[in-house]
Amino acid sequence: MKLLDGKTAIITGAASARGLGKATATLFAEHGAKIAVLDLDLDAAKAAAADLPGEGHIGLACNVTDKWACIDAAAAVLEAFGQADILVNNAGITQPLKLMQIEPENYDAVTDVNLRGTLYMSQAIIPHMRERKTGSIVNISSVSAQRGGGIFGGPHYSAAKAGVLGLTKAMARELAPDGIRSNAVCPGFIATDITGGKLTSDMMDMILEGIPMGRAGEASDVAGCCLFLASSLSAYVTGSEVDVNGGSLI
Ligand code: NAD
Repeated sequence: MKLLDGKTAIITGAASARGLGKATATLFAEHGAKIAVLDLDLDAAKAAAADLPGEGHIGLACNVTDKWACIDAAAAVLEAFGQADILVNNAGITQPLKLMQIEPENYDAVTDVNLRGTLYMSQAIIPHMRERKTGSIVNISSVSAQRGGGIFGGPHYSAAKAGVLGLTKAMARELAPDGIRSNAVCPGFIATDITGGKLTSDMMDMILEGIPMGRAGEASDVAGCCLFLASSLSAYVTGSEVDVNGGSLI
């Protein structure tokens, strides 16, 4: 018996080949789940779904900043799978801006995807989870929320990801009586397309100096934590924020 046998999972922003969402989708599929890959581009989402281990995964276009797109995607998942047990709110963008460089459109773009998207996709699937009295929602925040910045994320990114932590806890409190859990994962520096290709070796040395484990994280490190929070292994865990950062905050 695999950990997620008979379960279905919706993972937003899961089409990016080196991304945390795709790694999480792959690990969940290896553990028996059927996956709905949601991302901006339909072809990319379908290709990512086809690439996952096992059969029956689906790819859907869904811009998580659009409430109605989230509602449509949730309906399409329920039509295809009949149920949704797990939601991973992973879609995110960042912008390397300083405080005084943030224009209204920067603030809106970063807040919309990271925070509003997490709310809208959760709202789209919660009625179904409530009906079944079960569900696990995993929200991807960031170490930037906890320490007020990082190499890539500007203050608006820190604020949006801190908002994700507040939303996670509020959802956990409100949804606990309905059998739905809500937890957040705070990745540190993980090698993906968000971080890749933009670093000089000096920057890399500086980053590694701040990581007691002395290495960048892998997408699979984050996926493992998501698997724990999505599965019954974490049945009594809700409202938590789990650090996956190689000890960066010690
Ligand atoms: P990535 O850029 O590889 O993947 C992000 C995915 O989100 C892409 O597939 C993109 O198309 C999708 N996306 C963007 N806007 C969207 C929208 N409006 N609707 C639906 N999908 C959308 O990035 P990643 O590194 O895999 O990041 C995944 C998550 O982890 C993000 O929330 C990010 O903020 C967070 N995070 C990453 C790191 C890191 O070091 N890589 C650290 C902390 C947190």
